[in-house]
Amino acid sequence: MSTSLILASHNAHKLDEFRRIVSQALPGAIVESYDGPEPIESGVTFEENALIKARAAARHDGRPTFADDSGIAVEVLGGSPGIFSARWGGAQAGDAFNRRLLLQQIADVPDGHRAAEFVCAIALVIPPEGGRPAREHTVVGRWPGTVLREERGDGGFGYDPIFLPVGERRSSAELSADEKDSLSHRARAFRALVPILCDEFAS
Ligand code: IMP
Repeated sequence: MSTSLILASHNAHKLDEFRRIVSQALPGAIVESYDGPEPIESGVTFEENALIKARAAARHDGRPTFADDSGIAVEVLGGSPGIFSARWGGAQAGDAFNRRLLLQQIADVPDGHRAAEFVCAIALVIPPEGGRPAREHTVVGRWPGTVLREERGDGGFGYDPIFLPVGERRSSAELSADEKDSLSHRARAFRALVPILCDEFAS
């Protein structure tokens, strides 16, 4: 019987990414998106919020479940926007507003002090089954870089146009989707998840 996993997200782009990585680790495994209620993300770290989402979906659905939580952490802001990245400019703010706000907040910070990283935590929650207790795993991927002074490029989403990855001359919005897929915080977290998937599900 093939392994069936749930992704606790309504984001189609993430579902594709998860399917790609899971199919490498577990050929034939099926990943479905979750359509149940979403919990309040009351955690104070990326790992906690990923676990809250994965636990809620696993409880609702009963199958092994993944969830991720991600954002950008700026060193001079003590790691903010961090878990508040999506709503840094308020609940109604969009990506462009959030980017402009962040650029304004650190406008006076000199180039040598604009370090930042994209962070992605992924949680995997496996409900109890056949006498085996429930298991939980979390992994984290980090993509270091700096915050630019102005936007560059129109690819990606979120903070990509103002993020210059370490070792790159292009912002993450100027990378191709394939390049970003292989370098990003999400890719790094996915890679850390592969041995766990193999341990848990490969027979
Ligand atoms: P979520 O994990 O999908 O809720 O993403 C949180 C927020 O972090 C997004 O709305 C973006 O603002 C930011 N973010 C996360 N990953 C990326 C990325 O790969 N590029 C740009 N922004 C990102």
